[in-house]
Formats: sequence, structure tokens, C-alpha cells
Amino acid sequence: MTPDNDPLLPHGGYRHLRSYKVAEAVYDATVVFCRRFIPKSVRTHDQMVQAARSGVRNISEGSGAAATSRKSEMKLTNVARASLNDELLQDYESFLRQNGLRVWHKDSRECRAMRDRLQQDFIEDLPAAKSGAVRLNGLAGLAEFVGKAAPELAANAMLCAVHQAAYLLRQQLRGQAREFTEKGGFTENLYATRKRTRDGAETPACPDCGKPMRQRIAKQGKQAGEAFWGCSGYPDCKGVRQV
Ligand SMILES: [Zn+2]
Repeated sequence: MTPDNDPLLPHGGYRHLRSYKVAEAVYDATVVFCRRFIPKSVRTHDQMVQAARSGVRNISEGSGAAATSRKSEMKLTNVARASLNDELLQDYESFLRQNGLRVWHKDSRECRAMRDRLQQDFIEDLPAAKSGAVRLNGLAGLAEFVGKAAPELAANAMLCAVHQAAYLLRQQLRGQAREFTEKGGFTENLYATRKRTRDGAETPACPDCGKPMRQRIAKQGKQAGEAFWGCSGYPDCKGVRQV
């Protein structure tokens, strides 16, 4: 949680996000899938890899942007969602259709079983597979599975994983929107901090002249965009303090 006097928002923990983990597995497995099933000379090859990459990158960038702007965070998270849900998903479905293979229904038994396995990173106690059969043993094994399974299995496993990433991102967006409505963004928090210090006794005295200080935002230089204490006697006094 943000301490009361810190207008920066909580940010940067993307590696712990489940959506990031799933999107990263989708990216790695998409590289394997394309290498195996789609000739490098076909444009779809690069487009799929790029869409998968955009999913991962925009989650991490959105998480970083969260420090100063909930709106940027939401925008980038939504780009990640769109790359996966609107582009990559369509490409996997087209692959299946164009090769005369089945797209599993989302409520089918096979699809549900696949989803269950993808919900865990690694499943240790799976019963022994029939000889020659390839099995998915969790999210961490997705790329390996896609590298060995028959095309229909591989593409449907990818569909399930992409669906899951997109679902998690939709939930994340909802959470971000709620957080923004309830707690505001950087600018709103900064205003609240200012008002609190203006009203309360927390205002420090100027180190140069002893007058009360006001919180301001640096407009230029290395600290641009950051808050600092400036003397209320400015411009006669140029005393500053770090926040
Ligand atoms: Zn002063």
C-alpha cells in the first residue's frame, strides 16, 4: 500500500502477476509453434510472434507506468489484452480452420482439461502417458508440448492459454479501473498530499529564511515531474528541500 505521504502509486510487481506468467509462456510457445508449423516466408509467422511479444511487453511496461499514471497503466494493459485476444487468438483459429482441424469448443471436455492443466505451473502426479503420447504437464511445459504434439492439439492448447491470458488481463483492467476510481491517480494523490500538508502541521520550514514551505512539482531538469518543497517566499527566497 502507498504510505500516506507518498504520492507515487504501487507499481512494478509484474513478474508476480499471473497474467504476465501466462503471457510469457504464450510468447515462448508461440515462437516454437511458428517455427514448427508456419514457414518463415509467410507473413503470419512474424505477425504471430510480434502479437505474443506485445502481450508480454505491454504488461511489464504497464506495470512500470503505474508509478505515475493509472491511465497509462490501463492503456498499456489494454494493448496487451488486444494483442492477445484480437490478434493472436484469431491467428490460431485461422491456422486450425485453414488446415481442416477442429477448434475445440470452450466448454468441451478436452478444452476444460487443458485449462485445468494450464492453471498450474507444473503438475507432478500425472498418470503415465500411453507410449508415444505427448502430454501437457502445466504452464511451464507449454512450449515443450507445442514442440511435440500434433498440430490440432498444439494449436488448441495455445488457444486455451491465450484465452486464459486475455481473461486475466480483463480482470486486471477491471481492478485497475476500480483502484483509479477509488484512490485516484498520481496527480490526484499529489493534490491530496499537498492539501494535507497545507492544512496540517507537517509543513517544514525553509532552511534559508524559516518561512513555511509549499510542495511543488519540478518543471524542468533532472527532477522534472517530481515533487519538492519550495519556500513560500519564492521568488525572493529560493530555499528548497527534498520531499
Ligand atoms: Zn525561504
